[in-house]
Amino acid sequence: MKGWTGKILRVDLTKRSSSIEDLDPTTARMFIGGHGVATKILLDENVAEADPLSPDNKLVFSTGPLTGTAAVTSGRYMVTSKSPLTGLLGHANSGGFFGPAMRSAGYDHIIIEGRSDKPVYLWIDDDKVEVREAEHVWGKLTDETEAIIRKEVEGTGKRARVVSIGPAGEKLVKIAAIMNDQHRAAARCGLGAVMGSKNLKAVAVRGSKKVEVADETGLKAAAKNAREILKANPLTGEQIPRLGTPGLLMPYNQAGIVPVRNFQKSSFGQRAENISGEALEEKYLKKRAACSGCSIGCGRVTEVKEPGYEGKGEGPEYETLIMIGANLDIDNLAAITKANYLCNQFGMDTISVGGTIACAMEMFEKGYLTKKETGFDLKFGDAGLLVKLVEMIGRREGFGDALAEGGFRMAEKYGHPELFMGVNKLEMPAYDPRGAKGMGINYLTSPIGASHCRGYTVAMEILGIPEKVEPTAENGKGMVAKAFQDMTAAWDATGICLFPIMGMGADNLVAMLSAAIGVPMVLLDFIKIGERIFNIQRLFNLRAGLKKEDERLPDRFLNEPLPDGELAGATLSLVGAMKEYYSLRGWDENGTPYLGKLKSLGLADYAS
Ligand code: SF4
Repeated sequence: MKGWTGKILRVDLTKRSSSIEDLDPTTARMFIGGHGVATKILLDENVAEADPLSPDNKLVFSTGPLTGTAAVTSGRYMVTSKSPLTGLLGHANSGGFFGPAMRSAGYDHIIIEGRSDKPVYLWIDDDKVEVREAEHVWGKLTDETEAIIRKEVEGTGKRARVVSIGPAGEKLVKIAAIMNDQHRAAARCGLGAVMGSKNLKAVAVRGSKKVEVADETGLKAAAKNAREILKANPLTGEQIPRLGTPGLLMPYNQAGIVPVRNFQKSSFGQRAENISGEALEEKYLKKRAACSGCSIGCGRVTEVKEPGYEGKGEGPEYETLIMIGANLDIDNLAAITKANYLCNQFGMDTISVGGTIACAMEMFEKGYLTKKETGFDLKFGDAGLLVKLVEMIGRREGFGDALAEGGFRMAEKYGHPELFMGVNKLEMPAYDPRGAKGMGINYLTSPIGASHCRGYTVAMEILGIPEKVEPTAENGKGMVAKAFQDMTAAWDATGICLFPIMGMGADNLVAMLSAAIGVPMVLLDFIKIGERIFNIQRLFNLRAGLKKEDERLPDRFLNEPLPDGELAGATLSLVGAMKEYYSLRGWDENGTPYLGKLKSLGLADYAS
């Protein structure tokens, strides 16, 4: 079974025991790895019915068969669990070096279950697995935690890689992230709170084994070809290496799809220049950075020296610049960058932090929240307040406690859930669906709520990758969304980063995967695996209680035309597009896959 290590490490924190299981070869071939295999494990082990913050929930750290290999951008890992924010499947992925370390320690997946009675961390040194006391790092920021644990476990030996939670995860903040390599985040769905609920502060891994693949020569040749294609592409060869994801800010602003003031506006006008990739490069960039095995290098090491906002770190990314910048009507790049550092240190998802604060600011603006509830003025544009609010959320202090529940619960608590801009309780990322209709379908149907990571149709709709489609058209967008979703589901499961999709075809990825696992595969096989993953995730969510009526965009998008930018005036309905989508998916009117569809995907055993 070359390409996979074939091993799953299972750790029971209640019993403080661990065991090693074999990865079923059929499961591996059907779902590749990552969130695909992890969802099957969670569904089979009845996690869909679990309380997300109880010992019954499980957390699966996963890699794919390309993680840690010679493949391009092969540094990814993924975390899958039941989300305390959405009550549905939660997954998030991250780059850096943790994933490759897991693989060289010998594991494709690590399942963590139960709950420790006091704070612990996990130390995995090849075959040796220890549950260690973590009282001394409980309460510490993620970068401090990582440094302390590395010092403890490494000695004079090889470097260990660490994932950890900050104070936010410990305090069960529902928008808490899991951090690794100091600045990298498995951010979405509040999975940091799942770690916190298990009293698990961190996982440190070190491995010494070579990651075996079926055809080393074939993989290296396919990877070399892919690297050359990525280098020759203007986006992956020049723009992303130079400006990182912030380089996307100006084109999206010009189109008029960036949220401003909780999506009340859709362009930041000239002020976008103050928070652009170019501004970040000019003011704060120290050097560029890359994850394991990456030739693109979208990471930005930055430093801010302005009084009150001093700090060093990585980022912010495009999503962060918009969600805690433009969406809060803030163009102070120093404050945004500082708030980004703090989100990383406290361990929080910047998209959800921005979406939640924006919602509260609009409620304050409309008089639905007052100083009586908040304790202070909560106004759009207040850069100093942003930095304070991040810490308050991370510590659940004062009004930060309400914000720590995420935008939906906060807005519902104060009587105005209609001002929450998200789907299935997950805050929407930095793309207004009125100006990129495929994103609207993605938000509605993504297995984790309003995510851009599960079908980035905006690449086609605004950037014209691989070819341009009319962004405001609805006809045909069901097909576009499905195609992106299935592709993305399979792509992520391989263990490489999604960014290369901007510059190379899926055939390049399929060539690398086929060489790694020794199974000849064509593009259609690969897409079918993605469709299978998407459907098993749907089944998980149906079992977790997902209802058709939950697939609803906020009224703002249905009742108000897009206000600004080149696409101003665009309206949104998606009624026809969703019918088209359900039909293409082979789902009934309630969004349940037909038996025939499940049979065709080898999932008939899961039919209810
Ligand atoms: S493109 Fe960026 S996120 Fe992706 S692997 Fe490279 S450095 Fe990491």
